[in-house]
Amino acid sequence: MRRLFSFFFLAAMTTAVALAQSVENLRVEMRSNPLGLDVEKPRLSWQIVSDKQNVKQASYKILVASSPELLKEGKADLWESGEVVSDESHLVEYGGKALKVNQQAFWKVQVKTNVGTTAWSSVAHWSKGLGGAEQGNWQGDWIGHDGLFDGETEGDHSRLAARYLRRTFEVKGKVSRATLHICGLGLYEAFINGRRVDGFVNTPAPTAFDKMQIYDTYDVTALMSGKKSCLAVVLGTGWYFGRAKNIRTFGFPKLRANLIIEYADGTTAVVASDDKWRLSANGPIRSTNDYDGEIFDARLSDFGQSQSKGWTAADFDDSAWMKAEKVASPDGRLIGNATPSIVAVPLAAHPNYRGDGVKSLGKGIYDIGQNIAGWVSLRLDNIGSRGDTIRIRYAERLNNDGTALYTENLRTAQSTDYYICNGNDKGEWHPHFVTHGFRYVEVKNLSGKDIPYELTAYVVGDKMKQTGSFVCNNATLNTLVENARWGIISNYKGFPTDCPQRDERMPWTGDRTTGCLGESMLMDNAQLYAKWLNDIEAMQKPDGQLPDVAPQYWKWSGYTDNVSWPAVFITAAEMLHKQFGDLQPMQKHLPAIHRWLDHFTEKKMNGYLVDADKYGDWCMPPETLNLIHSKDSTRITEGRLIATAYFYHLAKLVDNYSDTKRYAELCDKIRESFNREYLKDAGTKSAHYANNTVTANLLALAFNLAPTADRKAVEEQIIRKITVNENGFGIPCGVIGIQWLMRELSKMGRDDIAFRLATQTDYPSWGYMIENDATTIWELWNGNTANPKMNSGNHVMLLGDLLPWCFGRLGGLEVTSPGYRTFRLAPNFRINGFDSNNMKYETPYGTIVSEWTKHDGRIEWTVSVPANTTAEIVLPDGTVETRGSGNYHFTTNI
Ligand code: BGC
Repeated sequence: MRRLFSFFFLAAMTTAVALAQSVENLRVEMRSNPLGLDVEKPRLSWQIVSDKQNVKQASYKILVASSPELLKEGKADLWESGEVVSDESHLVEYGGKALKVNQQAFWKVQVKTNVGTTAWSSVAHWSKGLGGAEQGNWQGDWIGHDGLFDGETEGDHSRLAARYLRRTFEVKGKVSRATLHICGLGLYEAFINGRRVDGFVNTPAPTAFDKMQIYDTYDVTALMSGKKSCLAVVLGTGWYFGRAKNIRTFGFPKLRANLIIEYADGTTAVVASDDKWRLSANGPIRSTNDYDGEIFDARLSDFGQSQSKGWTAADFDDSAWMKAEKVASPDGRLIGNATPSIVAVPLAAHPNYRGDGVKSLGKGIYDIGQNIAGWVSLRLDNIGSRGDTIRIRYAERLNNDGTALYTENLRTAQSTDYYICNGNDKGEWHPHFVTHGFRYVEVKNLSGKDIPYELTAYVVGDKMKQTGSFVCNNATLNTLVENARWGIISNYKGFPTDCPQRDERMPWTGDRTTGCLGESMLMDNAQLYAKWLNDIEAMQKPDGQLPDVAPQYWKWSGYTDNVSWPAVFITAAEMLHKQFGDLQPMQKHLPAIHRWLDHFTEKKMNGYLVDADKYGDWCMPPETLNLIHSKDSTRITEGRLIATAYFYHLAKLVDNYSDTKRYAELCDKIRESFNREYLKDAGTKSAHYANNTVTANLLALAFNLAPTADRKAVEEQIIRKITVNENGFGIPCGVIGIQWLMRELSKMGRDDIAFRLATQTDYPSWGYMIENDATTIWELWNGNTANPKMNSGNHVMLLGDLLPWCFGRLGGLEVTSPGYRTFRLAPNFRINGFDSNNMKYETPYGTIVSEWTKHDGRIEWTVSVPANTTAEIVLPDGTVETRGSGNYHFTTNI
């Protein structure tokens, strides 16, 4: 075997020679230049970029100052770290003076590596927030109107008009800085002097509103123009006001805002939400209900003032508006936003769009070529006469003959927007405070006029960077990975949701237990999950119980005492640690995690078996294609088995994070009991668990419950079930088993079977979804034939461990110390049909690249290792090369 080993200078070719080594991508709490942080000691991260190999940080110096000018002069009045001998370049805790409320901090960093000292980085910054209402830093009150106006309804298909609020104020001199801290519940859009303060939509992120609310912070200095000015805010309902009869109402829309104006002369003024505000519910947004859609009456756009510049302008006459009322404060804490806010991106400009634009299918029906969460905007010119209603209906599918939208699977969600023309309509219109899950729309002028419409589709979801990409020579697998990405993008809305289209759209916990890990391979979901763990903890009952949906917006309690769904409270904390190097969530939630586990020990354990399961192996392939859930007992995995296995796995996982090993003895007993109860034919070739479902056997293997001596036999049961299944070669699990299937097949040395499962198009498989026109992942393996009662076309839970397997096993990328500070690359080059792979993964330290092709038994492999990390590169013959940063090329036989 001949092996060629060399490195090359990709980076050097693109980087100027003078910049042989630099510090880039400065982040605070993993965000770039965040504003309004409610964190006392934010953590700072940076990346080293170098064209040299084996670059390791030896020490760093950080300077933090209260103004960029001071920093320029080298005067770090907030913190001068001195030279700190450390190789840590990620999440280094700020050690300077405590920042005052609303104060800014500017920082830069210089590092010394084994190959020299970098120049100082460019300057980055963060600012402190208002630190929660109870800390008394907020001026003014919550304002709004706690009641229904004429024509408004609450309950089934609630209708509530948007609340428009405005206040004028004087700008009394040269403004050096203006900062807006704002929370509008359920959702808001804010304007200063007619201009939006931000590029976000559907903000703030939803929470358990009776426990906490999120406020946003914006630098609005550039909007401070003119003496007489106006701060204007429109409020929608979001999750705050019950949208349907089974959904909770927390209250009527309300606003809390503090605009802090700092003048050049050193004085400060605050424009707060107070008794000087005016309110109207007579504006164009007549109803915003996320399930049902938005009703917009353009005849009311000017609030009855034909000469007006608009309600957001300072000189608008608001004398007909009512005084905004001081309303009760929501319970709980107001906390600074730490999640990516939601943006609307034109689908055609989306980096992952694979379609070729909006296609008219006739009869007012349009296909945008991709199932997404979002909306369409409508070109308005010549669209209709005054009073004409344009109706836009949304759906994921067409009916079988392709002539109409298929909406049965939306259940009670109407998913319809209405635009009522004013007769002089211009520009574009899209709804404001709603989203829809859809690929198809039907547009109709209800007065009967038939005109071609011009539509632009927008993807609405969390503004999030992508972390990874995975492309290989197999087209089905490539499509599948991108379908997965679209499913994930569609279901991130300040927390992960189950689906974007029907009358749920809820943060179901169980869908993400392993999903959160797979999602992190494609999207930078660190802040989203850190925030969601706070939501989950906020929902904990004093006895330790956690709900299946968190926050819980339904009126039913949602606490079912179930292990496998809220398990994500633990697995996501572990994911944040491993994938992003962030241990804080695990540390912070550990006491609550213990309370949750202890609840099962005290209340649900009998003979060391945990009897606490609600959903079983949810959505496993059923015996007939029209069923949602199987009724066949030979396919159903016993709930107590699932709960016991998951409890064991979680308790062991948690013990890895505590010195006391609180659950060690208990786990030994559970394991004994589990095997006594469920292991059948032990010691024989037919050893298996319970009724021998793949899921039962998988859990015993994946969680190391099975005795070593019986593992092989249990593995054989799984393989036999998959390969000689009554359904043919196919996936045999639902939401529980699928979280372990692919990686366990790998561990058995059966990547060949896993690869076939990942790439085949026969039912049941992900490829079958693709064959049937899916551009996302379905809720059911038989999603094209099952009953519409529970049949979403855009759910991510059935992804199971597909993505961790793609990146971790096919791509061979394994994290060996948190945040990929050290990692292994050991692709499986020996799978038939898997002949090339281009895998990229963005870590906190930089991008890992592994790109290879296989030809006539030879591999050409290029690897890129980020600075300040170390990789173990495993060559096809098993040799391990330990390499520091740089680009490497290998040519070798398999
Ligand atoms: C949701 C799922 C969820 C399940 C559990 C469904 O209606 O859409 O994603 O996990 O219920 O019961």
